[in-house]
Amino acid sequence: AQKKSLNFIEAFVEQDLKDGKNDGRIQTRFPPEPNGYLHIGHAKAICLDFGIAENYGGACNLRFDDTNPVKEDVEYVDSIQEDIQWLGYKWKDVYYASDYFQQLWDLAIELIKQGKAYVDEQSAETIAKQKGTPTIPGTESPYRNRPIEENLELFKKMNTGEVPEGAMVLRAKIDMASPNMHFRDPLMYRVINSHPHHRTGWTWKAYPMYDYAHGQSDYFEGVTHSLCTLEFEVHRPLYDWFIDQFKDSDYRPRQIEFNRLNITYTVMSKRKMLQLVQEGLVSGWDDPRMPTICGLRRRGYSPESIHNFIDKIGYTKFEAMNDVGLLEHSVRESLNKTATRVNAVLDPVKLIITNYPEDQVDMLETVNNPEDESAGTRTLAFSKELYIERDDFMEDAPKKYFRMTPGQEVRLKSAYIVKCTGCKKDAEGNVEEIYCEYDLQTKSGMPESNRKVKGTLHWVSAAHCLSAEVRLYDRLFSVENPSADERDFRDLLNPNSLRVLNDCKVEVSLGDAKPLDQFQFQRIGYFNVDLDSTSDKLIFNRTASLKDSWAK
Ligand code: ATP
Ligand code: MG
Ligand code: MG
Repeated sequence: AQKKSLNFIEAFVEQDLKDGKNDGRIQTRFPPEPNGYLHIGHAKAICLDFGIAENYGGACNLRFDDTNPVKEDVEYVDSIQEDIQWLGYKWKDVYYASDYFQQLWDLAIELIKQGKAYVDEQSAETIAKQKGTPTIPGTESPYRNRPIEENLELFKKMNTGEVPEGAMVLRAKIDMASPNMHFRDPLMYRVINSHPHHRTGWTWKAYPMYDYAHGQSDYFEGVTHSLCTLEFEVHRPLYDWFIDQFKDSDYRPRQIEFNRLNITYTVMSKRKMLQLVQEGLVSGWDDPRMPTICGLRRRGYSPESIHNFIDKIGYTKFEAMNDVGLLEHSVRESLNKTATRVNAVLDPVKLIITNYPEDQVDMLETVNNPEDESAGTRTLAFSKELYIERDDFMEDAPKKYFRMTPGQEVRLKSAYIVKCTGCKKDAEGNVEEIYCEYDLQTKSGMPESNRKVKGTLHWVSAAHCLSAEVRLYDRLFSVENPSADERDFRDLLNPNSLRVLNDCKVEVSLGDAKPLDQFQFQRIGYFNVDLDSTSDKLIFNRTASLKDSWAK
C-alpha cells in the first residue's frame, strides 16, 4: 500500500522516538473545555491527538479543561464523550483539570515562597494598561515586591470567599520588560465566587488560569506531545517556564502547534454557537445546519466522511480558510459508496399512463446501489398513476429539453419508456395532471428498452407511496467569513438556510427507515431520516445535493 507522507507533527514525533526521548513512550491528550458542544474544528484536533497515539503505539487521554466554572456544565461533558466515541476513538483515561486543583494550589504556594509569584490588588484595566507593548517595557505593579508572608496570607484569602471577584489576582513574577508579552507577570489565579464548579462545588474560589493549569496538567499526566492550535505558539515559552519551575527529571511535555480549522459560511466559536442556540436562531446544538459534530451527525455525515475531510485538509503551520465545498464533497464521496438509491418526489404532480390497465400493478426490480453489488436489489410497485417532479414537465419546452414535454419520449427509471401526450390545467393555468402512453416492449431489461431516449425521470406509484416532510438545508450564513465581518454575525444568517417541504412522496420501502438511515434520493441528493421522524410522520434531511461545487 502507498504510504502517506508524514505531516510535520508526525515527523517531530518520529524524530523524538529516534532520539530515544521519554523511553519511546508516546502520550497525547485531547483537552476540551466543557463549555459547549464539539464542532468540526475539534474533530481536527481529535483526529490528530488520537491518531498520533494510535499510529505510534501510545495512549491518548481525554482531559476536561474545567478551570472556569462560569460556563461549564455536565451536559457538555456528556456530549463531548459521545461525540468522540462516535468519531471512532477510545481514550485511555478520563481526567479533569479540576482533579489537580489541590496540586496546582500547592505548587502556587511553593512559587510564592520562592518569591516568584505575588498577589496584585490592582484592577484588570490597570494591569492591562501597565503591560506596555512589544517594544515598550511594561510598568511594574506597586504590589510586585510585597513580602512573601503577605502574599501567602492574601492568596489564601482569595480562596475563602471574602475577596470579591476582580479584587485580587495571583501573578507570576517574571519580567515586565520581556519582549514576549506573556512573560510580563502573567496571571496565575483569579477569584470566582459567584458560580459553583460542576464537580468541586463551592470548595474553590480561586481558580487557575490556562497557561499555568494546562502545562502543569500535561506534566502531571506524563503527556509527551501536547498538540494545540497556532495561537498558543506565543504561549509556549511560558508553558515551558512553568514546567521548568517544578520539573524534577529530564521529562517534559513538548508543545507543538498546528493551524486551526476554519470553514467558510459558518462560525466555530462556542460563544457564538451558544448564542445561536439560546436565541432560537437554530433549533439546538444539533441543528443540522450547525458545524457541531452532533449537527453534522443529524445532517447525515458519517464518521468516515469527517475523517476523509480532515485527511484532505491536513496539518500545517499556516492559518487558512477551508471551503465548505470540500466538506460537502467528502460526504458525497462517502455516501456515494454506501447510500441506497430510492425514489422520492419532492414537488409531486400526477402522471397518468392512459394506456396502462386500470388495476394492474407491476413489481419491477431495481438495484439498491450501482456502486455496491452486494447491496442487492428490491422491487418497486408501478401502476397507472404515478407522481413525478413538477419541474420535470414543461408544456412548451425549448429544443434541448430532455424531460417530459408533449410528443417526446422519456424513460421512467427502472420501468418503461413513455411518450407524453398532454396535460390538464386548472383555471389559473397550473398543471394538475400530465398524460402519457407507455410502450410495453421497453420494460427495463428488454431489447426495446435500449432505445435512444435522452431523459430519465424518477417517479413513485401514487397508490404505493408515503407522504413525508423534507427539510432542505443550505449554508447557515450568507457571507463567506462571518467572523471577519464588522456586522453582528446574527445579521449575516442566510434567511433561506432551511426550507421545509410538507407534501413529498416517497416510495413505500422508506416506511421502515430508522432515524439517521441514509439514502440517495435519485437525481436529487443525499438524505437521511431525521431524529424526530416517526412512522406516522416521516421526516428527511438533505445531507447534500448531488451537484458537487468542489472543483477538483
Ligand atoms: P472556543 O474558542 O470556541 O471556546 P476552544 O479552542 O477554546 O474553542 P477547547 O474546548 O478549548 O475550545 O478546545 C479543545 C481542543 O480543540 C484544543 O486543543 C483546541 O486547540 C482544539 N480546537 C478548538 N477549535 C479548533 C479548531 N477550529 N481547529 C482545530 N483545533 C481546534
Ligand atoms: Mg475557548
Ligand atoms: Mg480553550
